[in-house]
Amino acid sequence: MLFDSLGLNSELLSAVASRGYTEPTPIQASAIPAILEGADILGGAQTGTGKTAAFALPIVQMLGEQEITRKRRIPRALVLVPTRELAAQVSNEMNAYARRLSLRSTMIYGGVTIQAQIERLHRGVDIVVATPGRLLDHAERGTVNLSTVQFLVLDEADRMLDLGFIDDIMRVSEYLPKKRQTLLFSATYSASIKRLADDLLDRPRRIEVERKNIAADPVTQAAYMVEKSRKREMISFLIRQGGWNRVLVFVRTRYGADKLTEELLYDGIKTAAIHSNKSQSIRNRTLSQFREGELRVLVATDVAARGLDIERLPHVVNYDLPQVPEDYVHRIGRTGRAGESGEAISLVAPEEKVLLAAIEKLLTYPIPRRTLAEFPEVAPRRSLKIREQKAAAAPGKKKTKGKQPKQAGQPPAGRPRGGKRRPRGAHRQRPAAGAAGRR
Ligand code: AMP
Repeated sequence: MLFDSLGLNSELLSAVASRGYTEPTPIQASAIPAILEGADILGGAQTGTGKTAAFALPIVQMLGEQEITRKRRIPRALVLVPTRELAAQVSNEMNAYARRLSLRSTMIYGGVTIQAQIERLHRGVDIVVATPGRLLDHAERGTVNLSTVQFLVLDEADRMLDLGFIDDIMRVSEYLPKKRQTLLFSATYSASIKRLADDLLDRPRRIEVERKNIAADPVTQAAYMVEKSRKREMISFLIRQGGWNRVLVFVRTRYGADKLTEELLYDGIKTAAIHSNKSQSIRNRTLSQFREGELRVLVATDVAARGLDIERLPHVVNYDLPQVPEDYVHRIGRTGRAGESGEAISLVAPEEKVLLAAIEKLLTYPIPRRTLAEFPEVAPRRSLKIREQKAAAAPGKKKTKGKQPKQAGQPPAGRPRGGKRRPRGAHRQRPAAGAAGRR
């Protein structure tokens, strides 16, 4: 199938071509004509399926066809998303199409000052991409006029519910006209999604892109059974041995993200973390460094990773298994995106076996197991040897007996690889003991 059979105009077809899309994805092929016909949509699709273009293209086309008589633009389309990252991703894609038809789109989200947003809204926009809480704030202050919204999109609706946005969404909906076209996308269907759809949609057409496709193929999955205390050596080994250069690593907590980042940096692997304690500008910078290949590894929490617009990720690692099985599907949806192949590796500690079982129940198939025993190279002495070789090879540094040469980007010499502090001195006297003693 080709894009030009979907009813899109020539400006948008050329926008699509310039993004490098040659054929519509299944969700695009089904949703675009249905949206152009004016139907409400209940779409079962997650990140990686091309759902953003599936709603952005027809909305932009229909808005572009309308004549605006008003002096100032008032929002005519509203896209609600769970996170700032997804807002940025959707907004980027929306803008790529909107500017072809001289439409203006803006992004509204929390965690930044409100004033600049108020000014942008005041100058006039056609499309608003927003997180629910901040948008409600604007609606209540009267700094956004939602009375002319004709298109409402709820993107990653399941995630918005998980993050507790249901009340905000319902309150926002009270500011919207009853007569409008509503599109709801969700990776999962729960009773609460169904209730939300009943409240907000009018006789929706249901479009389903099979979840299994994304989870099972073309992504190769494997679970490495490994003690929690050895995960860090394992991941470091896998990345180096496999020559992995673009790896997204999921961890459970922000603290865990920072800790692992520090440890991988210590191992000489260019790594940065992205999580909600980092400012938006730092997150943006990290993302662009990762996209441009300046970073090998991006460590992220689930919330921060939602909606990250990173293409063709060959490797995703679950350093911690997610507490919610659905998050596993979201996570591995980050690899093998839009037809590319990928590998999703989970490091599973004995205490995480129940989580693995819950994931397999959701997937309805087992994930192949591998054990650490298959990787004898991940051994304390070997790790140490690498460190010693590196230390010896450090240019311009004299090898001082008993003293570790300090390298840029590494923690102080008193900090062993395991991340825990030991009394200074102990490490200097017997560098071997630190690595071996931990196992
Ligand atoms: P989404 O599910 O909207 O997050 O899109 C996932 C990724 O697929 C994004 O990086 C898009 O740029 C890309 N994409 C969307 N539609 C297509 C298409 N028809 N062909 C190739 N890539 C696409």
